[in-house]
Amino acid sequence: MAARLQAPRGTFDVLPADARRRAALAREYDDILGRAGYETIETPVFEDTELFARGVGEATDIVRKEMFSFEDKAGRSLTLRPEGTAGVCRAYAEHGMHKLPQPVKLRYWGPYFRHEAPQAGRYRQFTQLGAEALGSDDPSLDAEIVLLLVELVAAAGARDVRVRVSSLGTPETREAYLAELGAYLGEHESELSDDVRDRLSTNPLRAFDADHAGTRAVMEGAPRLLDRLGSDDAAHFAEVRALLDDAGLGYEVDTTLVRGLDYYTRTVFEVESGALGAQNALGGGGRYDRLVEQLGGPGTPGVGFAAGVERILLAAEPGDDAEPGGVYVALADPGAKRTAFALVRRLRERGLHVQLEQAGRSLKGQLKQADRIGARATVIVGESIEVKDMGSGEQTAAAGPDEALALVEGALSS
Ligand code: AMP
Repeated sequence: MAARLQAPRGTFDVLPADARRRAALAREYDDILGRAGYETIETPVFEDTELFARGVGEATDIVRKEMFSFEDKAGRSLTLRPEGTAGVCRAYAEHGMHKLPQPVKLRYWGPYFRHEAPQAGRYRQFTQLGAEALGSDDPSLDAEIVLLLVELVAAAGARDVRVRVSSLGTPETREAYLAELGAYLGEHESELSDDVRDRLSTNPLRAFDADHAGTRAVMEGAPRLLDRLGSDDAAHFAEVRALLDDAGLGYEVDTTLVRGLDYYTRTVFEVESGALGAQNALGGGGRYDRLVEQLGGPGTPGVGFAAGVERILLAAEPGDDAEPGGVYVALADPGAKRTAFALVRRLRERGLHVQLEQAGRSLKGQLKQADRIGARATVIVGESIEVKDMGSGEQTAAAGPDEALALVEGALSS
């Protein structure tokens, strides 16, 4: 026998039961985002590697270690997208969307790729849903983006949800702050983990994320960016917070919140679930007022979120999402197949869920199968046509296919 092949490491198949839960989440997401004016955009699954190097940041883990990059036949370096914002911003600039009425509100859903060590809730191909509002720096967009993600995960039934919010200010404030932080960390260099020490010059903010005990102790006394914001940024953040407060959202201001992507300015946030293990982030996002320009477009503020579809579903109680019971058409004798097949088509045309016996079962086996799938009506086609109301158990002979249709509809509405 040939060796059995398996899905590549860190990938998974979506089987029908999961697919139903994903489809239900997709409907919630379309509904919630659609009502807020976010329209669908689709961008390519692979982009020029440079888009992510410039957009996500050379010093980030994503760009340094996690990208699936390859050369095409013309020697161009391409990368399977590790995140969605850079591609959306590229599309915004490429299609001159700054000429449209602003803000341009976009939503997306699709596969993303990161070469990470697989574990529960962490895959090499995963699915993100996201939204971006481009072309305005109004704080109400920041608040809206946070609230939409929270609304979505609540509608999905995610348990024990926590929200953390902070502000990173402008690149200039951040630069001054990073110098201050760098100096502080330099004074404590010997107490830091090797990993943090290696990245002191490239990404000292990540030190706040470290699990290493010595590093954590040093970070307790470290200066906080939130205390160094310029007055415009502080006012912007205060307004975002006021809107979140008015909306009744419970959240924590976390001055150490850093995100794994370099493009953020001002608001950043993360939504987590206590129902998950180590990989507890459901989603997050923030404002990125310089990103479009960094990608060669016009100066355009933006804010958005991205969330992991698999994580949201892991954090939700698996509900009863089986298809509603429909109609089962059984064959009392194999010669009735053509009549039964035609009847099935007519029932489906009426919008009903209909299954036909297609596996050569005995009549007894067919009736069992009708029970198994939760059919509410069974049509038994042989020399005569009988319709069984599975609720009452009542079985009625139909004079022909037309009457059978009427009896089925009667059974389904009872
Ligand atoms: P990020 O932009 O990195 O914060 O990613 C946004 C969300 O995508 C995270 O909060 C996760 O829910 C999800 N996500 C990121 N990376 C992975 C992964 N490797 N596997 C599964 N989900 C992921």
